[in-house]
Amino acid sequence: MALVEVEAVSKNYPRRAGLRAEDQFVVRDVSFQIAEGETLGLVGESGSGKSTVARMILGLVEPTSGVIRVAGVEVGGSRTQSLRRQMQPVFQDPAAALNPRMRVLEIITEPLVIHGKAAGIDTRIPALKAAARALLVSVGLDESALERYPHEFSGGQKQRINIARALALRPQFLVLDEPVSALDVSVGAQIINLLRHLQREHGLTYLFISHSMPLVRYLSTRIAVMEKGRLVEIGEAEALCEHPQEGYTRQLLAATPELPGDHENVTAGWAK
Ligand code: ADP
Ligand code: MG
Repeated sequence: MALVEVEAVSKNYPRRAGLRAEDQFVVRDVSFQIAEGETLGLVGESGSGKSTVARMILGLVEPTSGVIRVAGVEVGGSRTQSLRRQMQPVFQDPAAALNPRMRVLEIITEPLVIHGKAAGIDTRIPALKAAARALLVSVGLDESALERYPHEFSGGQKQRINIARALALRPQFLVLDEPVSALDVSVGAQIINLLRHLQREHGLTYLFISHSMPLVRYLSTRIAVMEKGRLVEIGEAEALCEHPQEGYTRQLLAATPELPGDHENVTAGWAK
């Protein structure tokens, strides 16, 4: 069953002087679906419109035309509020998403405090603390982190805190917009493995955005390729990488720099 349906979605911004007509389209007539439990990888060069697609799915940017539904609910429609519990984002910059004046306990439990009651979740302090501890453990952090502030953590640990927060309301669907692009390769690989593990454990559905083909291939069930706002190719991950149909996809596959260090060892590490 399709959990996410993107139907003929376009986004254009008011044209600036001197730009050609097609330049105003940031996303143009994009359609795809994401099945329950799968990872759809979204890949393309910087500026191809990936984040705009992500933000439209999350309801943070309004499409110029087209329709997006998550779990049968139209994003931006009257029932959008109910989607807040079902889909959560994890963005590229792990620090930017964390309020520096809040302790990890408050950061992780904030979604529960705001939306928990409506979800029938116990939001009294002891229950919140227990939930925060369990979430921290599930992302590989120690519960001693609860009393500390974001600046006390490394980039990888900060991203783990973001993931714990994203999972607080037990969403079905995570939008992962370049979640490891700001991290060292080995730290990123650990986060990718954590995401894989969490997906299996909770039956999560992912939209995984990256400009790195090896990463997208490693994590994705299917891959969608964007070029200049258009979806140029979509297919099963292995088939798309082994037999790309579009020149642009071949270019992306060829242009992807080898991962630093021993590629075989790094990807072997991911599989653990
Ligand atoms: P990607 O995530 O693939 O790098 P983005 O979706 O961030 O691409 O951006 C696609 C294009 O849309 C870029 O050319 C960017 O400059 C433009 N863009 C994004 N947001 C806005 C905005 N709010 N106003 C005008 N142009 C925008
Ligand atoms: Mg982006």
